[in-house]
Amino acid sequence: MSTLEIRDLHVSVNTESGPKEILKGVDLTIRSGEVHAIMGPNGSGKSTLAYSIAGHPKYQVTSGTVTMDGEDLLAMSVDERARAGLFLAMQYPVEVPGVSVANFLRTAKTAIDGEAPKLRTWVKDVNGAMDRVQMDREFANRSVNEGFSGGEKKRHEVVQLELLNPRFAILDETDSGLDIDALRIVSEGVNRFSAQGDRGVLLITHYTRILRYIKPDFVHVFVNGRVAEQGGQELAERLEAEGYDKYVRAANAAA
Ligand code: ADP
Ligand code: MG
Ligand code: MG
Repeated sequence: MSTLEIRDLHVSVNTESGPKEILKGVDLTIRSGEVHAIMGPNGSGKSTLAYSIAGHPKYQVTSGTVTMDGEDLLAMSVDERARAGLFLAMQYPVEVPGVSVANFLRTAKTAIDGEAPKLRTWVKDVNGAMDRVQMDREFANRSVNEGFSGGEKKRHEVVQLELLNPRFAILDETDSGLDIDALRIVSEGVNRFSAQGDRGVLLITHYTRILRYIKPDFVHVFVNGRVAEQGGQELAERLEAEGYDKYVRAANAAA
């Protein structure tokens, strides 16, 4: 069993008017086998949390800890975090002109495993992963994310998830910009990953609609840089009906 543990995490970004605190004491524990959903309004700091765990240099951790099985993730480089088993699917996946999807996947796999994948099984694995998200195999020859539609970028994230098979996956708005078929296909990919049983998922989302396909064990309402409420599936249903308003007002009153 593995545990990803976030304790009292405070994170700032540098702005023109000086450092600005975005995360204001985040507490969250994810164990392998669990699916957690973080839901919150735009600008509440959800992507900042994802980037901070993954080690984006723009985000300064001013206090708190992030550990995986007791190991200090914050002391690790981005690459080391990936090798330790952490995967981030970004809200806005970056385009990498001149690097083909095939090369990108193989390089990432080699970096994480410490050795190149066996060519014969690898090609089969890549084709299988692409087939399962109904991504045309010719995408393997295209530059990473260049000219991809929103849905194609998200399918590509699921292909990476399947091939790299991390211990913990952070999926930042993997549902945004998807039509109903793509939402189902992407959700099924996340469910396949999670069904392995010893993997952890942190699903960040703004809308409740993806939760029709992916059933979280825990739901966290994220407002103003921290977790404002925790619950189970029923909390997502309450949010669907009531929205974030109540939590935003409470956070503003406390600030
Ligand atoms: P969410 O993902 O919940 O929509 P973000 O984490 O993207 O929220 O942003 C949270 C807040 O932090 C926003 O007010 C945003 O403008 C601000 N922010 C995030 N990154 C930066 C940055 N690099 N520079 C300045 N402000 C930032
Ligand atoms: Mg955010
Ligand atoms: Mg975001």
